[in-house]
Amino acid sequence: MKHIALYIHIPFCARKCAYCDFTSYPGRTERIPDYLDQLEAEMRASAGRYGSLTADTVFIGGGTPSLLTGDQMKRLMESVRRWFAVSPDAEITSEANPGTVDAAKLAAFREAGINRLSLGVQSFDDGLLRILGRIHTAREAEDAAYMAADAGFTNLSVDLMYALPGQRMDQWLSSVETALTLPVKHVSCYSLIVEDSTPMKAMVEAHPGCLPDDETAVAMQHEAARLLRARGFLRYEISNYALPGFESRHNLVYWRRGDYLGLGCAAHSLMNGERFSNTASLEEYLAGVRAGEPETLTERDAYEETVMLGLRTREGVPAFLLPAAPLEKLARAGLMHIEDGRAAVTEAGADVLNAVILELM
Ligand code: SF4
Repeated sequence: MKHIALYIHIPFCARKCAYCDFTSYPGRTERIPDYLDQLEAEMRASAGRYGSLTADTVFIGGGTPSLLTGDQMKRLMESVRRWFAVSPDAEITSEANPGTVDAAKLAAFREAGINRLSLGVQSFDDGLLRILGRIHTAREAEDAAYMAADAGFTNLSVDLMYALPGQRMDQWLSSVETALTLPVKHVSCYSLIVEDSTPMKAMVEAHPGCLPDDETAVAMQHEAARLLRARGFLRYEISNYALPGFESRHNLVYWRRGDYLGLGCAAHSLMNGERFSNTASLEEYLAGVRAGEPETLTERDAYEETVMLGLRTREGVPAFLLPAAPLEKLARAGLMHIEDGRAAVTEAGADVLNAVILELM
């Protein structure tokens, strides 16, 4: 039986955050029951296409999966178990927005089988949360983490963002320190990317110089890594830190280019070397249209993906995959190291990952 990572996209949000360019639809929650019907239909079709599949990990992402009620999450997980075998020790993650959870909902998510919660906090500074357009306060984020722990989530992650407009180093480190006071096992630290056509782009253009410069952004990442390392969190991927044994098994499948099946609006898949995605239109998906564009990957594409994704991780890639001369040069420069037949970037190399990849390609 084929083992996969299963991703389910929930494209609903309470409100659009200022920086967001993910596929998410604010204010359409009345369509969630219909959406769950379509997800089940897609699961059934996938079973018909691939036969028996075993999900070693399930990741319910968004959007805002925590807009589902407890009963809706139970229904979704019942559908998953109807159409897929789920490994007994499967990692089953749901993302959650702190502004959409309470103790009863979190308990229902646990009952549904969710055993890992990824809280989208972004900052523990109320002023910055407002700038980001988040729907929750810092206090609500802390409360959500404690409620999750009370509900039995022993595998809790928080997402934080840095290099935000007007953000000072002390504000950033205060957010990281606050995260470390919570019962978390995993912390993701993402640099803000200002995407075109977002309100954030207009805001940044209206206030030139409001973003921390590149040097400060790199220093923010270094200082966060220092704090996290001191508390036993290993940087196992360029933006992700975990206590040993709490690395995201689901995301590791992406970085290792394993097989993953994405269900729902705008979900992406890589199955048997074939990459494809679903329509990003909620209306189309609700009308039963699924297929987006299939992509044909050449051997070179697959190789480049393996290297680019693998070099994001601490485990790196098999060293023999990389051209010898550039690899030696990067190793001599202290940007890569080779050990046990694998090549990975050093901390210094991680700061200039794109340049390292360019050199190797
Ligand atoms: S909650 Fe997440 S998906 Fe929804 S609008 Fe905000 S950033 Fe985008």
